[in-house]
Amino acid sequence: MEEKDCIFCKIVRGEIPSKKVYEDEQVYAFHDINPVAPVHVLIIPKKHIKGIHWAEEQDEALVGHLFTVARTIAEELGVAPNEDAEGGYRLVFNVGKGAGQTVFHLHLHLIGGRAFTWPPG
Ligand code: 5GP
Ligand code: ZN
Repeated sequence: MEEKDCIFCKIVRGEIPSKKVYEDEQVYAFHDINPVAPVHVLIIPKKHIKGIHWAEEQDEALVGHLFTVARTIAEELGVAPNEDAEGGYRLVFNVGKGAGQTVFHLHLHLIGGRAFTWPPG
């Protein structure tokens, strides 16, 4: 369930400080230490899963819950879609080293508060 040396498991256990945004039985969300936008929150399952590629069928409800939590946080932090150019947010999983994943504990990036371009870098 937990991994002793995993940095995000340590954050869930409170061994590494973090700025909490949301918490329930299954999920923890906190501000990214190195934000790439005015809003940059990481939404993680408390259960250790290496990344979205490694989630199993039994994790489907948990993975779905991450998106519901993301919507709630987006509303709370004022980045929900609206008529303004700055409205809206991006949800990102980096999957594997080649795609930019550096922490191997599943995390959904919620980034917003500025305009984004496509394609991403
Ligand atoms: P990845 O590159 O794996 O998709 O994203 C990992 C994210 O975790 C990065 O955006 C990085 O800034 C963030 N991060 C890494 N270590 C810590 C930490 O100790 N605390 C917080 N709040 N964020 C972290
Ligand atoms: Zn972990």
